[in-house]
Amino acid sequence: METPLRFDSLLVHGGLEPGPAGATSVPIVQSSAFAYETADALEDVFRGRAAGQVYTRLGNPTTEALERRLALLEGGGTAIATASGMAAITTTVMTILRAGDEILASSSLFGGTFSLFRDTLSNFGITARFVDPLDLESVRAAINDRTRLLFVETVGNPKLDVPDLPRLAEIAHQAGLPLIVDATVTTPYLADGAKLGADIVIHSTSKYINGSGTSIGGVIIDRGVFNWNTARFPHFEPFHKKYRQFAFTARARKLVHKDVGACAAPFNSFLLTEGIQTLALRMERHCSNALALARFLAQHPKVAWVNYPGLEDAPGHGVATRLYGGRYGGLLTFGTGSKETAFRVINALRMAKNLANIGDAKTLVIHPASTICADYPLEDKALMGVCEDLVRVSVGIEASQDIIDDFNQALDAI
Ligand SMILES: *Cc1c(COP(=O)(O)O)cnc(C)c1O
Repeated sequence: METPLRFDSLLVHGGLEPGPAGATSVPIVQSSAFAYETADALEDVFRGRAAGQVYTRLGNPTTEALERRLALLEGGGTAIATASGMAAITTTVMTILRAGDEILASSSLFGGTFSLFRDTLSNFGITARFVDPLDLESVRAAINDRTRLLFVETVGNPKLDVPDLPRLAEIAHQAGLPLIVDATVTTPYLADGAKLGADIVIHSTSKYINGSGTSIGGVIIDRGVFNWNTARFPHFEPFHKKYRQFAFTARARKLVHKDVGACAAPFNSFLLTEGIQTLALRMERHCSNALALARFLAQHPKVAWVNYPGLEDAPGHGVATRLYGGRYGGLLTFGTGSKETAFRVINALRMAKNLANIGDAKTLVIHPASTICADYPLEDKALMGVCEDLVRVSVGIEASQDIIDDFNQALDAI
């Protein structure tokens, strides 16, 4: 028997089929629809009796290659690539919930997810309850008859709290709920969905998976391990009958993903399939550069506080060490006492870019309280761990000393 490829090799070869004329990168199939010789052949594809593509909103060969690779990287299953990370989250919750149902979610979420759950979905009869994912007893206590899923981020963005996902998985599974994990910040490089106990893994592929900030994308990976055939999910019954453990993917593909139309563009799928090849190399450097910058900031007299799970005294250090094999990702936050000094530091940075993104090869900074979280009242900001002096840094892959030098000279400005 052949040995299965290891993670770093799957990044390069996973899911790739031989291309035309010996092409070794995935071909960009820039076509909206796909023609068949006979009406019978097209009927067979529509009815799922034969494999094939129909229309790019439903599926596309370039996007399928990306989906195959991403599913392999999470320890197996099936994947649906979407137009953005938010599209992946929206598609997932719309596949699982109906009016009257409830989401149980971590209180430290990406701003867009928080607002989708609390503000947008409440217009459709869906209620979201938010709990501190580190407080396992509150999580357990917040589950009721209407709860349909538990949603958590591997590392909260920007709070950088590190929930104990295998234990949350136990709590969810005891109650018959799927654990949905947004693993954008850690990527499958730090840990795959199988290790974390996730039933469904979501990524905003716009971030580390792309790696160069060149396109927006998302993905939903159904690991095919959750039993949807229970009283909580009567609407899954016809899908479970036919597709068994992949009832979620079937319901998503045949209804929500098809009808909402937030599909991936073939060119973006190409950029992502190329970008992901270097994920392991980039993440290794993101992690080592972030640790070096965190250590530098921690000893700087003008820095009031630093949060990076890789620092021994960080609140998430213990769990992160156990779950992520001594690697802590590329995000850190720090404060210099006030919004005013935070702005002065950001304005004085020369190399780091001030923008609303993470996971780029370049070092990026932002002041969340005045930008991505500007619309939220103070109590929501507190829930999300966003204080007035917080600067979020997405540490890039540049020379570590250049990053440190940049922050060093910027801190001189205050
Ligand atoms: C960016 C991000 C999202 C949303 O993804 P988009 O591709 O911007 O739609 C969701 N979750 C996390 C953790 C993110 O960082």
